Amino acid sequence: MKSAWVERDAKAAIDHFAQAGIDAALALRIYSTRLLGREPKLVLHGGGNTSLKTTARDLLGEDVAVLCVKGSGWDMAAIEPAGMPAVRLEPARSLRSRAALSDDEMVRVLRALLIDPQAPSPSVETLLHAFIPAKVVDHTHSTAVLSLIDQPNSADLCAEVYGGKLGFVPYIMPGFALAKSAADEFDKNPKVEGLILDKHGIFTFGNDAREAYERMIEFVTLAEARVAKNRKSLAGVKPPQPVALVHEVAPILRGACTLKDAFGEGAHKRLILDFRSSDAILAYVNGQELARYAGAGVLTPDHAIRTKNWPLIVPPPQAGALDDFKTAAHTAVRQYVDRYTAYFKRNQPRSPAAAMHDPLPRVVLVPGLGLFGLGVTAKDARIAADIAEAAVEGIAGAEAIGRFTSITEPDMFDIEYWPLELAKLGARKRAPLDGQVAVITGAAGAIGTATAKLFAEAGAAVALLDLDNVAAAATAKAIGGASMAIQCDVTDAGSVRAAFERTVAAFGGVDIAISNAGAAWQGKIGEVDEATLRESFELNFFAHQKVAQAAVKIMLAQGSGGCLLFNVSKQAVNPGANFGPYGLPKAATLFLVRQYALDYGADGIRANAVNADRVRSGLLTDDFIAQRAQARGVSEKDYMTGNLLQREVTAQDVAQAFLAQALALKTTADVTTVDGGNIAAALR
Ligand SMILES: [Zn+2]
Repeated sequence: MKSAWVERDAKAAIDHFAQAGIDAALALRIYSTRLLGREPKLVLHGGGNTSLKTTARDLLGEDVAVLCVKGSGWDMAAIEPAGMPAVRLEPARSLRSRAALSDDEMVRVLRALLIDPQAPSPSVETLLHAFIPAKVVDHTHSTAVLSLIDQPNSADLCAEVYGGKLGFVPYIMPGFALAKSAADEFDKNPKVEGLILDKHGIFTFGNDAREAYERMIEFVTLAEARVAKNRKSLAGVKPPQPVALVHEVAPILRGACTLKDAFGEGAHKRLILDFRSSDAILAYVNGQELARYAGAGVLTPDHAIRTKNWPLIVPPPQAGALDDFKTAAHTAVRQYVDRYTAYFKRNQPRSPAAAMHDPLPRVVLVPGLGLFGLGVTAKDARIAADIAEAAVEGIAGAEAIGRFTSITEPDMFDIEYWPLELAKLGARKRAPLDGQVAVITGAAGAIGTATAKLFAEAGAAVALLDLDNVAAAATAKAIGGASMAIQCDVTDAGSVRAAFERTVAAFGGVDIAISNAGAAWQGKIGEVDEATLRESFELNFFAHQKVAQAAVKIMLAQGSGGCLLFNVSKQAVNPGANFGPYGLPKAATLFLVRQYALDYGADGIRANAVNADRVRSGLLTDDFIAQRAQARGVSEKDYMTGNLLQREVTAQDVAQAFLAQALALKTTADVTTVDGGNIAAALR
């Protein structure tokens, strides 16, 4: 591993932070923390921590010795001074004389020692940093170092690679006992430049930020060299060919990894899937001994809260034999759930107050194809996939030089259900559409944009389909997070298929399809040319059918229900003069909704329609409004508010109606009217 230290950048950091009154030592501490945090082979998603011993002025104006240490919940890659809370050093050090200190007490004492009572809680590894006398201390979960120390003979390997430069601390979970044990190991040889924490990670020490950082790079490089030496590759099995494609496999896996009725009848717990593949991943998942090494436990304990302690392994999915794969996947998930539940029950006496997490896997390994990270949100799925990729590299490295070995099952349980570790995940309120994937057509228009935003706010991952990809991409960017824009012509079957395949590849499946794209054609029905009528039918009827068909195919593969929502118009029930070419296909689409409700109700797939009228949009442009108002001899305002409630209907109102239908789990074949009240268009 190459050092990323650039002297010019380090000086710039000193100058930058000096403006905020921060001294050079802390500025460099921030700089090197970011360098460590930006390297995924060292630190992933909240793992690792760093510290600096210095002085700070307390609120009473006294200068005291402090430990500035990474605060809980801060990402090292983007750390700021506020993310390095200062803890009074001497009282923290004095805790070492205690025989024991419970986690709760440790957290309370550390909070009491904060210079700023409003600062974030310091890292759970704070006392280890405090007990080591070095001015600067760095800690990472380097993948290469883990390949070296996740071994039955890790102590011997460390002695061989590091000589006496690093002390070796046997595995203990983080907390007071580990801090004491690490300090005792340091005292045995105060000349060590760092410590190995067996099955966990590495610490390096320095008189300044650069020294500790460069030592980290040096020791990681030594581990990399050892892992590369006489490296033997994983013995592979060739999966049956041809292997099915990711968009065929993902919905099946996603359906199998769904907890039916977890939140009430029809309210399933679903997960988002994040797919990864590469030569390294394929070599790993095609390994002859995959079940042994992948099932042996986590690469470092910190991963347990994200990926659980072992992944789900399914048989290779052969193209053309997806029914067999589906049966096998469901069996594998059932076995996983049973195994996880038994693991929890076996170990629960260690933590009687713990409530079992959902027993679904967070990583799925698919021989011949790759791996999936799973999560309640797309972000969680990405994190699980990132960690799974690190595990692939670290475990393959361990197997290259020996035999991958993780911590024991009780140790795994202790860390997976450790409240201080779980606190890293933060409190997040469940959103109504958590884990669900929604596809919206006509997403760049007024109603499509409002709907995409509202569904994203409700927790769904959203795919925005539109002909106008630039506008859809701008909306996706504004939504941020779990959203993607896909260019799609809904009147073209191939384009619709490709858009759904991309959605499935990105998020794992589809639960809600909002078929919204439409356009208006006019003409007196007795005189209009047939081409106009057919053109309108292509977009206002057949495109809805194409979208619904593509969605239903995925929903059936998932086997966990779903929801089809259609933008039908008032015209479907109440024709407007010269609007036949628009109203006729919309009337057919209203019937289409009922046909889907009837044919797929038994599969838990609901179909509902929104009848909107007079919504300002690409369809009802300002010019068009002016024309219609003039034709009726009323002002534009009166035209737009010409309804029973005398209120203009907005795109937001339509989006709300779609969301209400998506959430109404016992409602299907429904038509919701969003027109401010039009008694002539009221449904019987
Ligand atoms: Zn750690």
